[in-house]
Amino acid sequence: MSHLQIINYPHPTLRHVSKPLKKVDKLVRSWIQQMFELMYEAKGIGLAANQVDLPFQMFVINPQGDRATGSEMVFINPVIKSSKGSSRAEEGCLSIPSVYGEVSRPAQIHVTGFDHLGNPIDLVADGLLARVIQHEYDHLQGTLFIDRMDPNDRRTLADRLYEFELELQTFQSSGKLADNRAIKERIDALEQQYC
Ligand code: ZN
Repeated sequence: MSHLQIINYPHPTLRHVSKPLKKVDKLVRSWIQQMFELMYEAKGIGLAANQVDLPFQMFVINPQGDRATGSEMVFINPVIKSSKGSSRAEEGCLSIPSVYGEVSRPAQIHVTGFDHLGNPIDLVADGLLARVIQHEYDHLQGTLFIDRMDPNDRRTLADRLYEFELELQTFQSSGKLADNRAIKERIDALEQQYC
C-alpha cells in the first residue's frame, strides 16, 4: 500500500471529502515524496492527496513546476480563512489529463495550515500561487475545476468527460481497478489509522 498512482476522473475518491490528518509518520512522509515525484513526472504544479487515492487533507505544490529551481510546499490540514477579488484563467488537472477550461476564482487568499514537519503555515497568496492553492484545496472538498466552469464551457467538454467515464467502467469491470465498495473500504481503513 505504499506505491501511489494518480487516479483519473471520475474515480470516486476524487469526490471524497478529505479528513484532517492527525499524525505524520514515516509512511506519510514517503507518500508526500511520491506525490512530488508523480507531480513532476506528469508536469503538474500541484497534487492533492485524494488524487493519489488517499483521504487526507494534504496537498503538495510547486508553482514553478521545476524540482531544481522551484519552491516546493506541503500543506497539511489547510484552511482558507478569507479571500478577495476575482481572477479568471485557464486550468487543467492531473486527474483529467488534456482537459482545460477557464475558471474564475478569488484573486487573493489567506491560508493557514501546517507543513510535513509540523511548522505552521500562515500565508497571503495571490497570482498563480493563490490559484494553485485554491485548486488543490477544492480537491480536498471533493470539488474539481470542471465543477467551477461556466455550464456552457463545460458542455463543450462533455464528450471528453464521457470517455473518462467509460474508461473507469471498463477498468472496474475488467478488474484492473478495484470496485467502488473495495475503494471505500480502503479509504475507511486509512481514515481509522490516520484521522
Ligand atoms: Zn487537480
